[in-house]
Amino acid sequence: MQSEDGALPVRSFIGLGSNLDRPAHQVRTALTALEGLPGCRLLRQSRLYRTPPLGPPGQSDYVNAVALLETWLAPLELLDRLQEIEWRQGRIRNGGHWGPRTLDLDLLLYGEQRLADPRLCLPHPQLRYRAFVLVPLADIAEGDLPIPGAGRLDELLRGCDPAGIEAL
Ligand code: ADP
Ligand code: MG
Repeated sequence: MQSEDGALPVRSFIGLGSNLDRPAHQVRTALTALEGLPGCRLLRQSRLYRTPPLGPPGQSDYVNAVALLETWLAPLELLDRLQEIEWRQGRIRNGGHWGPRTLDLDLLLYGEQRLADPRLCLPHPQLRYRAFVLVPLADIAEGDLPIPGAGRLDELLRGCDPAGIEAL
C-alpha cells in the first residue's frame, strides 16, 4: 500500500508497558488504540509478558509487549500520537523516569533511522539493554533485525538477562 503522495511506509516497532491500574488491560487497550491510528497499520503484536520492575524499589510488576506498525507518519508525528494515547490512558508523570505509570509507549525503532532530537532518540537508547523489550520484540521480529548502532536482535538477546520475565 502507498499513501496518496506515493510515499512508502516505514516499519516501526513500539514498546508498551504498564504497572498500574490493571496493567494487562492497559496494554490491550493501547494495542487497540494503535490499531486505530490514522496513517498506520498494526502488522503484528507480541504476547504480553509479566516483567520485574527496574528503577525505584517497591513498584509492582510490569506488563510489557511490543507491536509492529507500518506507518506513513514522520517519526515526530508518530511520537505525538503515542503520547496522546499515553495521556488518554491517564499516565501519571511524577517527574522521574522509571516511576510507576499506567502506560508507557516507546518508539523503539523507525526503520533503520537514527535520530538525536531533543524529543526523540532513535533507536530508543535503552532498547539494547532491556530484556523486557528484547524478549517481546523477538516474538515478532527475525533474529537478524538490525538495531542501528547496536548490532542485531539475536546478539542483543544473548547479552541480556531474561530472569523473571514470563509470558502471560
Ligand atoms: P522511559 O520511557 O525511559 O521510562 P519516559 O517515557 O518518561 O521515560 O520518557 C519520556 C520522554 O522521552 C518523552 O518526553 C520523549 O520526548 C523522550 N523520548 C526520547 N526518545 C524517545 C523514544 N524513542 N520513544 C519515546 N520517547 C522518547
Ligand atoms: Mg517512554
